[in-house]
Amino acid sequence: MKVRWKHFSSLLCAFCALTISACDQGSNATPLVQRPASTRAAAAQHVLVISVDGLRGDALGAPWIEQLPAFSQLLVGPHTLQARCDPDISVTLPNHVGMATGRLFIGEDGHGWLPNIDPPIASKGGTLHATHDRYTASMFDVAHDAGARTGLFSMKSKFILFEQSYNDQAGAPSLGLRDAGRDKIDAFESALESEDLARKAIRFLHQAEASQNSSLAFLHFADPDIAGHGDVWELSPNSFYLEAIHVVDCALGEILAAIACDPSLRGRVAIILTSDHGGGNPPYSHTVHTDPLNFTIPFVVWNGTLPSIELYTVASTARSTPSASERATPNAAPPIRNADAGNTALTLLGLPAIPGSTVNARQDLLGELLP
Ligand SMILES: [Zn+2]
Repeated sequence: MKVRWKHFSSLLCAFCALTISACDQGSNATPLVQRPASTRAAAAQHVLVISVDGLRGDALGAPWIEQLPAFSQLLVGPHTLQARCDPDISVTLPNHVGMATGRLFIGEDGHGWLPNIDPPIASKGGTLHATHDRYTASMFDVAHDAGARTGLFSMKSKFILFEQSYNDQAGAPSLGLRDAGRDKIDAFESALESEDLARKAIRFLHQAEASQNSSLAFLHFADPDIAGHGDVWELSPNSFYLEAIHVVDCALGEILAAIACDPSLRGRVAIILTSDHGGGNPPYSHTVHTDPLNFTIPFVVWNGTLPSIELYTVASTARSTPSASERATPNAAPPIRNADAGNTALTLLGLPAIPGSTVNARQDLLGELLP
């Protein structure tokens, strides 16, 4: 039986709040280290792309955000609660493929991955490359080939798709001058609980820093989606869905505390947080991709120094702001999507865009915010 959040929230949140406040000494933050990059200066040594499965944009609005200290801290960076998932599909795996590859689902340049279940083995079509009979590059390719350590930490078994697509058998030869090998994901780990996943990601960060590598990690927290399927996507005090968001908040708090408490990480880690989809239509699910309940998600960028600003005002020439009920305006600049995440992560690391990507391929989402 799933343990309801209210039974242990006070203990863990007290720990998170205490740790963050005790260690967050902004004025003593370690200066950013800018490693050699091919196109621009790095704004971060380590980047975490965090997807919170089933997290609706309004869950981070008033009044709920007041009880979510870690999400609140992340919202100090540029963000929007009006980002969009893929325009044609609102389920988990295709949207995560979009985040990692910078491609939408449909189209000649789309990633084309439809199944939302455990993939078949690689030899039976269980790689992203088999869909189009071509290699589909990812943010892992670019980061790994540039010398960064890469990791993927997830709470659903279907994410084995990424390991099968980018291991030493299916991954591409190195893109860069140095031979980084074909295995594009150095650490691939699963977890049953958010707290465990957070600790694995923290360990990954420490290992990357200890080996003087930059790093890119993709984290997937599943609690809100599991709660939504079990008890609808209800935002109300003590709802199962809201309690699940609190569980993720506490896990995020552990990550933020680990960053704040470690002088070698403080000021050198950036986080991109978004979601694969919202939820609530039909009840207990999120498959109606034309419903705002399902397609409206947050998109947050944080590194401790970027300003708190509506992200659409930053990217005003490159992205158009859809109204709360619109998916996007035809022929206008696209909205901010979860698929912006991969190339934004590479932007922060000072690396070029994912080959073949179409979403944020110009790496202009953060506009003039970065040097
Ligand atoms: Zn789901």
